[in-house]
Amino acid sequence: MTNILAINAGSSSLKFQLLQMPEEHVVAKGLIERIGLKEPIFSMTTNGQKVEFIEKITNHQDAVQLLLHHLIEQKAVNSLQDIDGIGHRLVHGGEEYSDSVLIDDEALIAFERLSDLAPLHNPANIAGIIEFKKALPHVPAVAVFDTAFHQTMPESSFLYSIPYDYYKKYGIRKYGFHGTSHKYVTGRAAELLNRPVETIRLISCHLGNGASIAAIDGGRSIDTSMGFTPLAGVTMGTRSGNLDPALIPFLMEKTEKSAEEVLDVLNKKSGMLGVSGFSSDLRDIEMEASKNNPRAQLALDVFANRIHKYIGSYAARMNGVDAIIFTAGIGENSEIIRAKVLAGLQFMGVYMDPDLNKIRGKEAFISFPHSPVKVIVIPTNEEVMIARDTVRLSGLQGF
Ligand code: ADP
Repeated sequence: MTNILAINAGSSSLKFQLLQMPEEHVVAKGLIERIGLKEPIFSMTTNGQKVEFIEKITNHQDAVQLLLHHLIEQKAVNSLQDIDGIGHRLVHGGEEYSDSVLIDDEALIAFERLSDLAPLHNPANIAGIIEFKKALPHVPAVAVFDTAFHQTMPESSFLYSIPYDYYKKYGIRKYGFHGTSHKYVTGRAAELLNRPVETIRLISCHLGNGASIAAIDGGRSIDTSMGFTPLAGVTMGTRSGNLDPALIPFLMEKTEKSAEEVLDVLNKKSGMLGVSGFSSDLRDIEMEASKNNPRAQLALDVFANRIHKYIGSYAARMNGVDAIIFTAGIGENSEIIRAKVLAGLQFMGVYMDPDLNKIRGKEAFISFPHSPVKVIVIPTNEEVMIARDTVRLSGLQGF
């Protein structure tokens, strides 16, 4: 029996799962929220029992200590020696990492360097790695990157049409994100379609608060909607997605905001929140739309319309598509968004069954059996991917 901790450390939160491998059984999972803020909350579910405490958590070190304490207290493990490996989510792996990696001192230095590319995310991920290393120095740790799966994109997909020197000098290119999720659903889709992954063309729609679409040909990502940062691509909860870059200086002049402030608007006050004017959460927007709130209806249409267009463009990119996948909070649950996204795509062989589309949060085909292009809902599982890679790269196989 091998116990792996899968960790996702953000700037003020830390999500965790303890998985028993190779069974992939979730022993405990939980979330530490509001680290360093007022009234931090620790919550954890072990064997169906949920506990929640308000604790003093001033930094990541406190968070890690508290998590280890509660894992023992709630009997998820008998002692810290029962933790065999730790897998950490790291948002940005740049061009250096096309696969997960065992973390040693050299890797940590490389991660620090990559923080330049993801200043909002990587430093918090790294803080988590360092604190676990201090607490459990002899336990192997592995980093799993959001960008790694997209490293198979050809240059013609990842290059921006700007002077080529900028790519060479500054690393400006499309990196893409949500790779761990797109990779997981790719594997599941091949199993559900009962076909070798090398033979299928997939369009994966990861629709959560952040959203991205990926074109996956023969199991390899060949294009994706997010770019140099996770701001690009489709409309999201609070992020604008693609827009005309000339808007930025224009907005700076009109609103007298700095570039950083405008970027903050595009990251945090735009997307469905910006369009609807009241919420970034799809459940709220669907509720208001059902009461004929026109701005809520508009937010749904803007969101669905962008995804619909990506599907068309990625089908063209791969000269066809065998299956379209919906995953993450919205993709797994929203009948309304899936129906709007797929409306009218019969011309390219997509025939969705409105009855099957009622499914929520479960793996299911939602296309008619005769549909040449299959549509599949697949709940994502990034933690299981992190745990699998931790086992593979730390030599725990056959433990
Ligand atoms: P994150 O990117 O933060 O991991 P999630 O994958 O949890 O996000 O997705 C969050 C989004 O999923 C929110 O917009 C939420 O409203 C939406 N969502 C969750 N459950 C449902 C549901 N039952 N119906 C519609 N939308 C849902």
